[in-house]
Amino acid sequence: MHDETEDVIAELHAMLDRADRIVSFTGAGISTESGVPDFRSPGSPWMVNKPIPFEAFVQSREARIEAWRRKFAMDDHYRDAQPNIGHIALAALVADGRSPAIVTQNIDGLHQASGVAGEKVVELHGNGTYATCLDCGWRHELAAIRPVFEATGEPPVCLMCAGLVKSATISFGQAMPQEQMMRAQALALECDLFLVVGSSLVVFPAATLPVIAKRQGARLVILNREPTELDPIADLVIRADSGRALAPLASGPGGPARQG
Ligand SMILES: [Zn+2]
Repeated sequence: MHDETEDVIAELHAMLDRADRIVSFTGAGISTESGVPDFRSPGSPWMVNKPIPFEAFVQSREARIEAWRRKFAMDDHYRDAQPNIGHIALAALVADGRSPAIVTQNIDGLHQASGVAGEKVVELHGNGTYATCLDCGWRHELAAIRPVFEATGEPPVCLMCAGLVKSATISFGQAMPQEQMMRAQALALECDLFLVVGSSLVVFPAATLPVIAKRQGARLVILNREPTELDPIADLVIRADSGRALAPLASGPGGPARQG
């Protein structure tokens, strides 16, 4: 039987070959193939270890203790997660100069782990692989925080200024990172192909960036297992696992092995 998905994937790669400035926008779907649980999926460990809202974290020592307990419980679910073929494929686009940066809703750091320089990953929801001081911004490593937290039961405070230390993710109720938002918008305005990978495009600003790209004349491709609200304005919609659809970039012509 003819596999129509293969035809659509071939069309994706023809579009990628014609594009000069590709901006990838990734969501949870790209990382589920690495074993990172999707926040929204039923039975997700996120449901048991719900993130604490920002206001409670700031106001209550008990909330901070619970936030850190849940944070480390979640980390145990995906501590061994490695970049998958989808991450590697998008990294190849950055490495060969066709993609200036990757915009992501994910906090797992897997784009960086796949070889993309940190300054080329625009993290709209922050990063869960380290912590920062809410007052002075100093970076704190989880490997240093965790043993002290587990030994004392006390939430960490900043070594530099005694401020509150929090996972570097954007919590519910916390302001979106303005610089990252502006970078994401600029990338959407300047790309000629906007490639959505594994995002259901429901939360702000996920729903607006593809529209910005499309309206300035970029082509819009949505690669997601489920339908999205923006499918009707997309130039191409691919309902497939991201690893399967992107695999040719990671291994075949156009992949990192390509010369020149
Ligand atoms: Zn501090």
